[in-house]
Amino acid sequence: MENKLNGNKLEPGTAGQEQKELIKILLVDDEEDARTTLLELLELNQFTVTAINSAENALKILQNSSFDVVISDLFMPGMDGIDLTKAVNQRGLNVPVIVMTGYATIESAVESMKAGASDFVTKPFNIDQVKIVINRTLETKRLQKLATEREYYENLSNIDELTELNNYRYFQHILQVEVDREKRYKRPLSLMMIDIDDFKVCNDTCGHLAGDMVLRQIAGLIKKTTRGCDFAVRYGGEEFAVILPETPKQEALVVAQRIRTSIEEYAFEIGNGKGSLRLTVTIGLSSIPEDAQGERELIEKADQELYRGKVQGKNCICIAGQGRV
Ligand code: GH3
Ligand code: MG
Ligand code: MG
Repeated sequence: MENKLNGNKLEPGTAGQEQKELIKILLVDDEEDARTTLLELLELNQFTVTAINSAENALKILQNSSFDVVISDLFMPGMDGIDLTKAVNQRGLNVPVIVMTGYATIESAVESMKAGASDFVTKPFNIDQVKIVINRTLETKRLQKLATEREYYENLSNIDELTELNNYRYFQHILQVEVDREKRYKRPLSLMMIDIDDFKVCNDTCGHLAGDMVLRQIAGLIKKTTRGCDFAVRYGGEEFAVILPETPKQEALVVAQRIRTSIEEYAFEIGNGKGSLRLTVTIGLSSIPEDAQGERELIEKADQELYRGKVQGKNCICIAGQGRV
């Protein structure tokens, strides 16, 4: 029987069959001879090939079917190989394009690489060279995909799902990095701890879902009122923190006042036609170098001030060394 397992050994052709199913190539060339030659060579080498005579038609096929790689002639009437490469990238079709060119037109190949082609092969074809280029292109694509996935999962583990702010884990990491940097360059750094006043009442009277909506809106307000270089995080529950690099205490106080006021003045939506809600926050503030040497002490001092603010009536800002302001 053909393609049958012979003990543990595969019959000849079976391994090639596997590859043939795996690697799909779209071959684009207006010249029939060149197209047929490369089509045959590629098929002999177990690639699955669809051959097409123009870039316009190639784009139509790419909209509906997926390929691992496109190999396109550079010079074609109408849309050429460079145009095709640009269109593939602009439309986010996520398929690498290898261009084909004669030795005399190597400069054009370089141009097409600048336009986003992943590599080029030269005519007349040397199938070993073509195979090396295809495999290199596929390997690059695989590594790019891995890197994107890794970045995605790293980001995910640093983000709080409810508010989409960074989470406590990220806070710990970034605070350590910033404290080390600030100590080395002797720059000031401030930390703000923000806690919603009487949030339990909000949950108890409006429901947990309304509470979640409020948390999202507060996160949005904090993000909006801080600078791009500040790090706003959800510290946990209904507590937020903002790390303010290169920021002395009095400047951090200005940001804290902005946050406190913007929340006090905001009408929070609580959904389902239930109208809106007013809320306030209390903020504790501490800074390096005046109040602390390291991150632990910095957090403790900001926490103490937050507690002081709660005891002294809430809806206020308390600063280490100065108390309520
Ligand atoms: P204080 O002014 O002293 O801060 O009072 P408080 O009511 O805000 O503080 P308390 O610590 O007593 O209650 C915090 C509440 O926050 C209780 C908890 O159910 C609520 N909370 C924590 N995380 C979430 C969340 O993810 N969603 C909602 N809806 N509520 C949360
Ligand atoms: Mg609270
Ligand atoms: Mg709390």
